[in-house]
Amino acid sequence: MATVNGHSAAKYNSLMEGGDIDRDQIVDGHLLADEYFCPICRCLLWNPRSCASCQHLFCQKCIQTWLEYSKNDKTCPFRCQSYDERRCPPSFHSLLSRVKIHCRNAPFGCSEVLAYDSLERHENVECKYLTRTCPECMKLILVSEFIEHIQKKPSLEIILMNAI
Ligand SMILES: [Zn+2]
Ligand SMILES: [Zn+2]
Ligand SMILES: [Zn+2]
Ligand SMILES: [Zn+2]
Repeated sequence: MATVNGHSAAKYNSLMEGGDIDRDQIVDGHLLADEYFCPICRCLLWNPRSCASCQHLFCQKCIQTWLEYSKNDKTCPFRCQSYDERRCPPSFHSLLSRVKIHCRNAPFGCSEVLAYDSLERHENVECKYLTRTCPECMKLILVSEFIEHIQKKPSLEIILMNAI
């Protein structure tokens, strides 16, 4: 019952969590040590969680996805016997909060550079060039053009609905 819609909504929500920030989007990103980057997605750590055994940090959404795929043995990606989650140490969060990041909507004209902690709000609420990620082609699309973009080709939902 409504699983198709439920599924795509979940997918959309996970996209809205933010993250996926690569070095190019970071001011002086080439100067940042590797410890700032998630070993799973290779992007800037986003909402980091740490493994109690090895102390490695992972984006929250990356480690969640990892654990879902390793259902039977909930091991850490670094092969610790079990994954016991800890919060990101405040000392590391304060390092992260000094990172400056270009708005993801720069290709559309936004020239804002945001602090780590204000990026998510800017990109999802305050930006003059608000975008959404198209769940099909995974590209950023201006909100003002989103409906038109989605309508250009038959959406996955429509295809699945017709197949039932
Ligand atoms: Zn990650
Ligand atoms: Zn570990
Ligand atoms: Zn912006
Ligand atoms: Zn698309």
